[in-house]
Amino acid sequence: MREKQTLTVDVAIVGGGIIGTAVARELSKYDVSILLVEKEAEVGWGTTKANSGIVHAGFHEEPGTLKAKYCFPGNQMYPKLCEELDVCFRRNGILMVARNQEEWDIVQKYYQRGKDRGVPVELLSKEEALALEPALSSDILGALHAPEGGSVMPFELAAALMENALQNGAQLLTNSPVVAAQVEGERKVIETAEHRIEAKVVINAAGLFADDLAQMFGDDYFTIKPRKGEEYLFDLDTKDMVTRTIFPVPTKVSKGILVIPTAEGNLMMGPTGDNIEEKEDLATTRDGFARILEGAKSLVPGINPRKIIAQFAGVRAASDRGDFIVELSPNVPGLIHLAGMESPGLTAAPAIAVDAVKLVEEAGLKLTPKEDFEPRRKPMVRFRSLSHEERDRLIKENPAYGRIICRCESVTEGEIIDAVQRGARTLDGIKFRARAGAGRCQGGFCQPLVMAIIARELGIPLEEVTKRGLGSEPVMYHAKELLTGGEGQ
Ligand SMILES: Cc1cc2nc3c(=O)[nH]c(=O)nc-3n(C[C@H](O)[C@H](O)[C@H](O)COP(=O)(O)OP(=O)(O)OC[C@H]3O[C@@H](n4cnc5c(N)ncnc54)[C@H](O)[C@@H]3O)c2cc1C
Repeated sequence: MREKQTLTVDVAIVGGGIIGTAVARELSKYDVSILLVEKEAEVGWGTTKANSGIVHAGFHEEPGTLKAKYCFPGNQMYPKLCEELDVCFRRNGILMVARNQEEWDIVQKYYQRGKDRGVPVELLSKEEALALEPALSSDILGALHAPEGGSVMPFELAAALMENALQNGAQLLTNSPVVAAQVEGERKVIETAEHRIEAKVVINAAGLFADDLAQMFGDDYFTIKPRKGEEYLFDLDTKDMVTRTIFPVPTKVSKGILVIPTAEGNLMMGPTGDNIEEKEDLATTRDGFARILEGAKSLVPGINPRKIIAQFAGVRAASDRGDFIVELSPNVPGLIHLAGMESPGLTAAPAIAVDAVKLVEEAGLKLTPKEDFEPRRKPMVRFRSLSHEERDRLIKENPAYGRIICRCESVTEGEIIDAVQRGARTLDGIKFRARAGAGRCQGGFCQPLVMAIIARELGIPLEEVTKRGLGSEPVMYHAKELLTGGEGQ
């Protein structure tokens, strides 16, 4: 058996979702060595990749919870963060609509809750709400409007946070599930198949598997219960139907079925909120679809299911406390748990990251701010958003921007090469960063071209290009090789 390579760092973060990557970037502002360990081929592929992408306004959360503590401050950090990282973010606003008197009473409760927290909110009459969103059901009584609610591309943000953390000296190990963990004197040791990582502080940001990681350390005081949410994405040509995210009043377990304009413009409807047994059950279901369509149509009757181009499910990591867990382990010194991150974990992540740094200090590490921290990453080229003049200029500088690879989303070869240079290693990594394959045909046309570019840029055979990590290779062999017994190419 090959001996494991030992890596020694100040802080090891397990899990590269929005929480782990936000913490990596926040910590990279300080003079401290950081290693993020992620089991998948890229960061952001857990719950972070499969959610509604809403930057919640901060009026929903129960008073006294950590969800309430972090949601509104997180929301307020988004504009600057996304500007620094050049991530697609829109402050498109939120409407919570009431369809009867009982719901109107509930809406007023949330209005007061928002006011008490300093969240900008206003109550709208039916006419005012319909003037803002003419596609809304005319059966509503009124609505709560929160103009500072927003929409972000969650995977893009996680990838950007990681890219910026790496720029500032953090390290990343992908394809590296942590399989064992223990305390050895002052150090915490985590092990992957190939590495033994010794750290002064370990941050548990393992999402759905945070309780499993805690248990590897012998720490078993919380559990994570999976709750699934299905979502259905519409073609880009539905993008002008509604501008704001439309909420009903919440149910006991979730914020209800929503109509969501994503940051990139596609409309989405969902999610369900179903307790499940398997943490990795990502199946969409006929029943889930029916419930979502009924819920979405009760808000926006004109929604047309024929325009759906993709569907997915994400799983919420609900803790047995029903709240976030943001604390030093009471049992294992130097182990920090950032767990139970169901909604609004995406919104809260930047604010949680700030407190995670304080917990690292509480764990005994002295943190000195870096003078040369670079908050900005290299700006992205989004060819489809450029003017004709800008496109001309760009193509003259680099002809790869003159070759359209994904016709549905007008993504160029130059953007795909850039995504690879920023860390994309898979077809999904390209799709979520550059949108090649995210359009109407879902990669039917461009997938072979994107694969060829990835193979060329990484210097690997086509057969090694994967959709989303080992075991998802779209090409098994060259047909000619098969026919000629390996002679043909
Ligand atoms: C359907 C749905 C809709 C949602 N909508 C919203 C919304 O609109 N707004 C909002 O604010 N929040 C929303 N949320 C919640 C939000 O998605 C989560 O709070 C957030 O993504 C949690 O991020 P995380 O980093 O904790 O977890 P994850 O993204 O799951 O990251 C954990 C990472 O740890 C890795 N990992 C696990 N075990 C190991 C191991 N042993 N070794 C190494 N790596 C490991 C995983 O691969 C994963 O990448 C929604 C959630 C769902 C399911």
